[in-house]
Amino acid sequence: MRILVIEDETDLAATLHRGLSAEGYTVDLAHDGQDGLLRARAGDYAAIVLDIMLPTMNGYRVCAALRRERIDTPVLILTAKDGDWDQTEALDTGADDYLAKPFSYPVLLARLRALLRRPALGPTQLAVGDLVLNPATRTCHRADQPVLLTAREFAIAQVLARRPGEPIGKSELLYHAWPDHAADPNLVEARISALRRKIDTPFGRHSLQTVRSLGYRLVDDREPHR
Ligand code: CA
Repeated sequence: MRILVIEDETDLAATLHRGLSAEGYTVDLAHDGQDGLLRARAGDYAAIVLDIMLPTMNGYRVCAALRRERIDTPVLILTAKDGDWDQTEALDTGADDYLAKPFSYPVLLARLRALLRRPALGPTQLAVGDLVLNPATRTCHRADQPVLLTAREFAIAQVLARRPGEPIGKSELLYHAWPDHAADPNLVEARISALRRKIDTPFGRHSLQTVRSLGYRLVDDREPHR
């Protein structure tokens, strides 16, 4: 099981990495909020341990962004005991649990195990207009008709569908769709073209749009019904 730890205090992060690895988890570390969000967006973590006070983007904003993008990975927030933030606010942003610093390590482990035991939420479908993606089954439908996507095409469509209308850069698409971190942006262009030929062209649609110098976005391009 993979756990993402987003914590800027390097000593604490290293301790968590060591401790959780010893428990058999695979642990990834992020040391600031934006990097943490980027990693968490991949959505393949069993749980996320998230500090509140972080450089570039605080933990509440990271958690709120994940929930807005319908990424339901369980989140355990670490709050400072004398924190400027109300701990209940952690839960308001969509965190599943919180723990005040300083915490005892056995308590952290117990809380984490409890989170991991929770039944997974039902598969959350992502819909942009009549384009529907189901991440659990890796299936795609346009206007109720099945569309067969390769794993990479699906990964790209998934990143775009989580933030409808928002331009997403090639580097972010590369990051998520090429886990080996291939670095050639031309790869993205080719896959975007292939994706258009599947989800747009046969349906006479233009939902996958190029946004000059920013990247690509997925929109609901249906004519409004009157
Ligand atoms: Ca911190």
